[in-house]
Amino acid sequence: MERAGGADAIALRVAEVRRRMAEAEARAGRRPGQVSLCAACKARTPEEIRFSAGLPIDLFGENRMQEMRNNLEAGAYQGKPCHFIGHLQTNKVRQVVGRAAMIQSVGSLRLLEAIDREAGRQGILQDVLLEINLGGEESKAGADESELMPLMDAAAALPNLRVRGLMAIPPPESDEREARRHFARLRGLMESVSGWAGEKAPLDTLSMGMSGDFEAAILEGATLVRVGRGIYGERP
Ligand SMILES: *Cc1c(COP(=O)(O)O)cnc(C)c1O
Repeated sequence: MERAGGADAIALRVAEVRRRMAEAEARAGRRPGQVSLCAACKARTPEEIRFSAGLPIDLFGENRMQEMRNNLEAGAYQGKPCHFIGHLQTNKVRQVVGRAAMIQSVGSLRLLEAIDREAGRQGILQDVLLEINLGGEESKAGADESELMPLMDAAAALPNLRVRGLMAIPPPESDEREARRHFARLRGLMESVSGWAGEKAPLDTLSMGMSGDFEAAILEGATLVRVGRGIYGERP
């Protein structure tokens, strides 16, 4: 039997994920092709990533600064964009700003300010998403819902970054109905801040849904799904 990460297996899985994405878009009455597929490639080899870059994947998502650097240096993304989706420590910001086309996992004012400072130093405009903690106490990543408006206000005053939308990871034990409720909640939060006066760019990115629940996320309005195991197989 072929090992989980084999090239043929990856190609078949990407085709299947794309088929299911298209079906969910159709069920949601959305125009086809409105949802980007982000390959969450933590712990995969540069060879697996390079192969997958030739498949219909729109972009890559990295959790670790060092893996992102290695994969960039190896040319593994083949020119496709890479987003940072993992927990980002402020002392790693320097390495991620400018390398990641978007930093999806920004959940504190401290991190927003560190990203803005580094982007200013590099003379670039860094796109970010605000990560929201929908799971309450169980999950530690992301800002509480009540912090969303203060963070939007703070971001409006930072000249070197733009908030492009929201990201969330629902609590892992959620069943499909619960996951949909979380996704609907995130979409509602996005609607509550879009059109807000301080916006520097359209809030056009709603990053939600992973291997186990990306269809539910698409039904609730995701514009970007982050799929790992569904593309590469179980993690080593
Ligand atoms: C690993 C990871 C994913 C993908 O998870 P799978 O269950 O493998 O699809 C998505 N988002 C984030 C932030 C991740 O760390």
